Amino acid sequence: MMIIWDFDRTIMDDDSDRWVVSEMGLTQLFNQLRETLPWNSLMDRMMAELHSQGKTIDDIINCLNRVPLHPQIVSAIKSAHVLGCDLKVLSDANRFFIETILKNHGVYGCFSEIITNPTFVDEEGRLRIFPYHGSAMAPHGCNFCPPNLCKGSVLNQIQDTRSENGKKRVIIYIGDGGGDFCPTLKLGEEDHVMPRKNFPLHHMISKSSVPIKAQVHEWVDGEELNKILLWLINSSEKQTIL
Ligand SMILES: [Mg+2]
Ligand SMILES: [Zn+2]
Repeated sequence: MMIIWDFDRTIMDDDSDRWVVSEMGLTQLFNQLRETLPWNSLMDRMMAELHSQGKTIDDIINCLNRVPLHPQIVSAIKSAHVLGCDLKVLSDANRFFIETILKNHGVYGCFSEIITNPTFVDEEGRLRIFPYHGSAMAPHGCNFCPPNLCKGSVLNQIQDTRSENGKKRVIIYIGDGGGDFCPTLKLGEEDHVMPRKNFPLHHMISKSSVPIKAQVHEWVDGEELNKILLWLINSSEKQTIL
């Protein structure tokens, strides 16, 4: 069984980009430039601003280390990992923010892969953020998704590799946002989608004119997510070998 997690407002209750922007005093500049740059480039621009203000990578790490995770989300991640599930993050945030937060909460090692916008720290100590498609991967050509990341095309690749090995593994997809709708449409009847209740993905699923093949399970908070996820893992364990 494979569990694919969105990051912002799913693993983390807040949004990692918004967190750094507001905690590091960039809100005004962010709002000024919001209309002029795509989100991904805007975040790279924000990191340039921090660098020009003399803020270091350690300052960014300290800021990210203040991000709380719901204890039941941490517990759900650990339990799913211990039970033998393959956990991946699929997020439109960025590698540096996600890795730092997961490491700080001791769950980084539970994930086999983090698929997101790539980052690196340049020789001057500035954090650079790049689009997933266009640098790491070729353009995706999907109309639903922003140019930098189509989660649906990533899901298709994951599905291709999982059927190559002969055994088809069930996917549980957990998310909240509009960007999670494209991959949701690509899930099969044996799969599950867990949209966060009253968030955009949940509304899009409810109103969808295209039928959703996967089984839908709503959750409100970490406690409910943990309960549903463990129930799904345990009930599928009884039917088939993971
Ligand atoms: Mg999200
Ligand atoms: Zn897409």
